[in-house]
Amino acid sequence: MSPYYFYGFRLSRSSRGVVVAEFRINISNLSEGVHGYIFEAEPSKIGLDERFVSMVRIKVKLDKSLRQIRLQADISAEGTFVCDRCLNNFKWQIAKNYSMIYILGDRSTMDLKKEEEIQVISADTNCIDLDEDVRQYILLAVPQKLLCREECLGICPTCGVNRNNENCACDAQVTDSRWDTLKKLSQS
Ligand SMILES: [Zn+2]
Ligand SMILES: [Zn+2]
Repeated sequence: MSPYYFYGFRLSRSSRGVVVAEFRINISNLSEGVHGYIFEAEPSKIGLDERFVSMVRIKVKLDKSLRQIRLQADISAEGTFVCDRCLNNFKWQIAKNYSMIYILGDRSTMDLKKEEEIQVISADTNCIDLDEDVRQYILLAVPQKLLCREECLGICPTCGVNRNNENCACDAQVTDSRWDTLKKLSQS
């Protein structure tokens, strides 16, 4: 990620001030058992940078028991990225799911697998906010190498045309000169 995006994110966050989270679930009177939610938010509202323009959607399943809440979330988002090879913009669908366990009160009483994501919240917490987790998981889902498609031909280093749209003669010339050398060798 370029520093520019990070800066942009910081700016938008600080200008938000104190606002209610977009993805907020009231758990104050939540009965034990499974609950389902669907949320939608503008990407900028959850602190995503300007590469993300389409609505971010999450489908959440909460499983509440006496001392903990187990959350499963399916995130779908879409970003517009610049291809590392041809520099064209392309859209990328992000589908990511994650789970989180909210412990009500005290971690020490719980028997948990180490690899599980855990947040300890006080027993009188009214709401859980998912904005920051969702933002992080979306950013983590953005591939390190951004390619408009796996077989993107990129830009010709010699003449600069986008080889996905245009054929240039540069490769052919290289091949020809190699071929000439071979011919010369075989003739000598
Ligand atoms: Zn490309
Ligand atoms: Zn070329």
